[in-house]
Amino acid sequence: MTQSTDGCFQSNLLSVEEAQSFLLANARQLAEVQTVETAASLGRVLAASTISPIDVPGYDNSAMDGYAVRSEDVAPSGTTRLAISQRIAAGREGGALEQGQAARIFTGAPMPAGADAVVIQEHCRVEGSLVCFPGPVRSGQNVRPQGNDIAGGTEVLSAGTRIRPQEMGLAASVGLATLPVFRRLRVAVLSSGDELIRPGERLGSGKIYNSNQYLLFGLLAGLGCALSDRGTVGDELAATEQALRQAAEEADVIVTSGGVSVGEEDHMRHAVARLGRLDLWRIAVKPGKPLAYGQVQDADFFGLPGNPVSALVTFCLFVRPFLLRRQGVTKVMPRSFRVKAGFAWQKLGVRREYLRARLVQHGDGEWRAEAFPRQGSDVLSSAVWADGLVEIPEGRRYAVGDDVSFLPFSELLG
Ligand code: AMP
Ligand code: MG
Repeated sequence: MTQSTDGCFQSNLLSVEEAQSFLLANARQLAEVQTVETAASLGRVLAASTISPIDVPGYDNSAMDGYAVRSEDVAPSGTTRLAISQRIAAGREGGALEQGQAARIFTGAPMPAGADAVVIQEHCRVEGSLVCFPGPVRSGQNVRPQGNDIAGGTEVLSAGTRIRPQEMGLAASVGLATLPVFRRLRVAVLSSGDELIRPGERLGSGKIYNSNQYLLFGLLAGLGCALSDRGTVGDELAATEQALRQAAEEADVIVTSGGVSVGEEDHMRHAVARLGRLDLWRIAVKPGKPLAYGQVQDADFFGLPGNPVSALVTFCLFVRPFLLRRQGVTKVMPRSFRVKAGFAWQKLGVRREYLRARLVQHGDGEWRAEAFPRQGSDVLSSAVWADGLVEIPEGRRYAVGDDVSFLPFSELLG
């Protein structure tokens, strides 16, 4: 691709992949590391791999409520009778099991020395001080061996992992009360447009409520970013420059919406070009062809289109992977899944289209993606109705029942 003096890429449209890989290559990973309580680590990004100092479990223990036995004492057929010598609850330690003895044992309790199997209580009958059950019993049955979950000295969580509830639980299981994480990425959000009114204020004629600011708050909060609300700036160059300068002072990344097209009321790109550097990309994507990326002082800059659905789609496709990589995350690309088309698509597009779609299960159990009837980039209700996006590659037609690629919102948000 070639770049002209005003920062616009000429000639062909950039493909989605070209834009994504360029952005990922430019995402400088945060360096500052903090220590947080494991209990408060949800959504944070692990800055170093963690090694377990212990085996989990730390000792052989019973997987069931029942009787711990020595399998060699059990007859291969018929009933075996053993003397109940002790009772071992979870958290207690028993004594050694002698030949001919069984221990009453509960789930999680340590196996007594000598015992190698547990007979579940449903298979046992107690007769006075004896326990009776049918053989055979296999050595190791219903026993969880030491280190069954985790072997001490091995890596349990790798650097670059976004911490989910299960990572919190696993870290706790190896005794880690705190975890090293990258500091939060600070992201400033700024809307551009004379027509924008904040919800809660009176809507005058020719005005609309600012939805993108709130949409972006949600998107960024889902990624664990620290938000800075820079409000709205009017369609005026000096004010836009001033707002960007303030945003750059407190944020690592600035995300704006509106004002990045080539109309004479669009000042965002000129303001960015004056304060730093700007590339205005024409990406082969619909909705959302224009996307501005650059630098305002030390902050990264993304100028999203003003139409809310375009802002949502370009954020999910381009800004989200960038922000994740910037935060140190290893796995940043969303996964798509193959489902059947519940609609026909006849138009041969030159841009890749992302349709707002809902999954509907048919009588045969198959999931079909139904497309929202109004796919305009101003129709935000399409995204509320939808479960995700169907990806229609450039130059493809589809009939009902054909395989299509579906990106669930669960892969795109958060
Ligand atoms: P622009 O990119 O500024 O030309 O805006 C394109 C369209 O998106 C126009 O209809 C704007 O009114 C609308 N728009 C811009 N910013 C917002 C916003 N923050 N919330 C809702 N709609 C917006
Ligand atoms: Mg505008």
